[in-house]
Amino acid sequence: MVPFVSFEAMHKEIKQEVTEKFKKVYAKNWFIQGEECRAFEEEFADYCNVKYCIGCGNGLDALFLILKGYGIGEGDEVIVPSNTFIATVLAVSHTGATPVFVEPELSSYNINPTLIEKQITERTKAVIAVHLYGQPAKMDEISAIAKKYNLKVIEDAAQAHGAEYKGKKAGSLGDAAGFSFYPGKNLGALGDGGAVVTNDGQLADKIRALGNYGSDYKYHHIYPGYNSRLDEIQAAFLRIKLKYLDRWNDDRIKTAQKYLSGITNPDIILPKIMPEVKHVFHIFSLRSKKREDLITKLNKYGIGTNKHYPTPIHLQEAYRNLNIEQGSLPLAEEISETQFSIPMYYGMNEEEVKVVIDAF
Ligand SMILES: *Cc1c(COP(=O)(O)O)cnc(C)c1O
Repeated sequence: MVPFVSFEAMHKEIKQEVTEKFKKVYAKNWFIQGEECRAFEEEFADYCNVKYCIGCGNGLDALFLILKGYGIGEGDEVIVPSNTFIATVLAVSHTGATPVFVEPELSSYNINPTLIEKQITERTKAVIAVHLYGQPAKMDEISAIAKKYNLKVIEDAAQAHGAEYKGKKAGSLGDAAGFSFYPGKNLGALGDGGAVVTNDGQLADKIRALGNYGSDYKYHHIYPGYNSRLDEIQAAFLRIKLKYLDRWNDDRIKTAQKYLSGITNPDIILPKIMPEVKHVFHIFSLRSKKREDLITKLNKYGIGTNKHYPTPIHLQEAYRNLNIEQGSLPLAEEISETQFSIPMYYGMNEEEVKVVIDAF
C-alpha cells in the first residue's frame, strides 16, 4: 500500500512544535491579523527573497487580489496556460477579465513562451505563468515578451514553494506571485491559506487593504474590498513548517530521482527537468497512451494515483461561455488524456518507492 499523498512523516516530525504553538495562540485569544501572521509574512518574504508578503485566505484569492490590485477587470485580457488547475483561470474571470489560453511545451508542461505573442491584443494586461507540478516556467522569455508589450508578469506559484529558476526563488521571478498553502502543497497549512509576494510596495499596500475589506485603517475603507486573510493559527503552523521546507523538498527531489532512474517502462513518458531550474516535485507527473491500464495495475497493488487534470479548463462546463471548441487546444487535451500522477510526498521510504517502481 502506497497512498498518493501522506502527511504522516511530516506531522510526526512537527507534532510537538505544532501542539505547543496551538496552546500559545489559543491562550493569546487573538486569531486574525496578529503577530503570527506578521511574522510569517516577514519570514516568507525573506524566504522568497522579496520585499513584501501579504497573507490571504487561499491561493485563488492570492491570484485574484494581484489582478484586482493591478486594476485588471472587465474588457481586459489575461494570458494563462491552457493546462493548469482551474484556480489560475478563475482568478482572471472573477475580475471580469477574459482568460486567453496559450498552449504548453510538452517537455515541461509549462506555458510555451514562443506562443504568447500571437495571443497579445491591445486588451492584454498580464500573463500568468504557472510553475506546474513544481517546475518554474521559462521566466526570462516570458518577461521579455511582457516587457515589450508592457504586461504584468504574475506567477502562479501554488505548486512551487522553494522552486528555483536560474538560482532565484519562485515568487521573485515576476511582478507578483500567488502562493497557496492548501494542506497538500509543498508548504501547506492545516487548513486553507495563501499569500501574495511582491517587490512592488504600492501593490502590496493595495492588496493588504483589498483583502481586509478595502480598509487601510480600522473602519476606514478606500476600496470596496474583500475578506481574505491568513488566520493566526495557520500562520503559526506555517512558520513551523517553513523551517523544514527545504529539507522536505530535497527529500521529494530524491524520491523523484529514484523514480526517474527506476521507471524504465517504454510506455511511460517521464517528467523532464529543464536546465537551470530547481524542480520541487509537488506532483510527479507521467504520460502514457496506456494510462488507464497502468492506473488499474498500480491501484491493484494498492498504489494511489491521480490525474492533473482530467478535463482541460476550456472544456469544463464552467467555461462554456468562452466557446472554445474541443480540438482547439490540442496539447492541453492531449495532456489531459494521457497524464497521470504517482505517489509523491515527504518521507516516502525506500520500500514504498520500490513498490511503485516495481509495479511498472
Ligand atoms: C492549488 C492551486 C491553486 C489554488 O490554491 P487554493 O489555495 O486551493 O485556492 C492555484 N493554482 C494552482 C496551480 C494550484 O495548484
